[in-house]
Amino acid sequence: MSCAKPIELEALLAYWLGELAPAAEAPLEEHLFACASCAARLEELAALAAGIRAAVREGRVEAVIPAPFLETLKRQGLRIREYRVPPGGRAECTLRAQDDAVVGRMQVPLAGIKRVDALQRLQVGAEVSERRVEDVPFDPAAGEVLFLPSAAGLRRMPVHTMRVRLVAVDEAGERPLGEYTFAHTPG
Ligand SMILES: [Zn+2]
Repeated sequence: MSCAKPIELEALLAYWLGELAPAAEAPLEEHLFACASCAARLEELAALAAGIRAAVREGRVEAVIPAPFLETLKRQGLRIREYRVPPGGRAECTLRAQDDAVVGRMQVPLAGIKRVDALQRLQVGAEVSERRVEDVPFDPAAGEVLFLPSAAGLRRMPVHTMRVRLVAVDEAGERPLGEYTFAHTPG
């Protein structure tokens, strides 16, 4: 079962999201109807996306996510609380019962940057823990890095402060891009 002219992944994704113009949708649908190989790919794509969506809704994932993925989650009906934070900025954040997730949108100049690492420092009372997330996804043109903490984990947390330092990494070493503070109060 193979296809001589497989539908491109981008088109398949757009079709699944219902974003294709009717003129593009009709021939693609015709192809899908006749082609078991592409129909199977569409099914896989839908299963994958549904799995990710369920994991976010259940609050099981913590991730730095690409902006288009956030838009997809919102379009699919997830209620997402967003905090846009400039470099050096601070957000007083929370997660209410009716929210599915919360996203920190860290504004950062990213032009020409190859790799970004996120240094997280979590403080609960006097207790501090640190970790480094390497090579996080980002879109240089968008100028932001999106952090989606696990909603389930967050609901179990008391008042705390999460500080994130973004650094650019290349052959020459690393340099700071910005620091962001999320002062969290349970909803
Ligand atoms: Zn095909």
